[in-house]
Amino acid sequence: MTHIPGIVITGASGRMGQMLIKTVSDSDHARLVGVVEREGHDWIGQDVGETMGAQALGVKVTDDPLEAFAQAQAVIDFTAPEATLGFAALAAQARCVHVIGTTGMTEDQIAALEPAARHAVIVRAGNMSLGVNLLVQLTKKVAAALDEDFDIEVIEGHHHHKVDAPSGTALMLGEAAAEGRGVKLADVADRGRDGITGARKRGDIGFHAIRGGDIVGEHDVLFAAPGERIVLRHLATDRAIFARGALKAALWGQGKTPGQYDMVDVLGL
Ligand code: NAD
Repeated sequence: MTHIPGIVITGASGRMGQMLIKTVSDSDHARLVGVVEREGHDWIGQDVGETMGAQALGVKVTDDPLEAFAQAQAVIDFTAPEATLGFAALAAQARCVHVIGTTGMTEDQIAALEPAARHAVIVRAGNMSLGVNLLVQLTKKVAAALDEDFDIEVIEGHHHHKVDAPSGTALMLGEAAAEGRGVKLADVADRGRDGITGARKRGDIGFHAIRGGDIVGEHDVLFAAPGERIVLRHLATDRAIFARGALKAALWGQGKTPGQYDMVDVLGL
């Protein structure tokens, strides 16, 4: 009989947590074995099956991640940077694949994942959807083909609860554009949230964040030169695309050598 990996979801009551509970409990390729919320949350002790679907009946929300991880082969984690750092150490201890969808991590926080990645597989991506990961590849190609007559601007929109700006996806797209140009994003990024306050310098990559209503996630990469413009666009209308990508990553990571991976590895792009 094929082994069906057990999955734990952190941030159970969050927007992505709820979508993940549904996606994993509906899957024939994985079993939901635990759900974690932060200490003191009013979901602790509740049975997620009662609200999220019969297949998850008997799975109770816990604030003890290690106890939950010990029963699992993978942890899917869309929470917050500090929480994710703690989960990385515990997932490594339990030898679980750790799929990280959390965005807004600093360079130092990303570097702090390294000790955990020596013992367990970590798949981390600012966007888990197939479409955005294709867009990243296209952005790299287009940026490599065009010279600096083309200004590059990344424009993103999200719902009004989103904490970080620019989005993790916008930064992935900016990194790809910089890589295509053969430069480092840190040297050319203009992240001013209020847009342009003066003229852009030639070669800068600009970021703009729109926050409003229930926008799931919209990203444009604009290449603008005198006389012509190219726009690459991805519109997410359903969070299920991120949850499906995360589950795919959790299954892909089974039996892989410990280390840090991203969705380009998972999707074989
Ligand atoms: P949310 O605020 O709705 O949910 C976050 C949940 O995490 C909350 O329920 C919160 O209580 C829980 N949490 C926080 N700290 C915790 C802890 N220590 N232990 C357990 N649970 C804890 O946010 P969301 O919209 O679901 O997004 C979550 C994260 O995922 C954000 O960083 C967001 O940008 C990111 N995201 C990534 C992708 C992707 O494809 N990579 C897609 C969508 C969202």
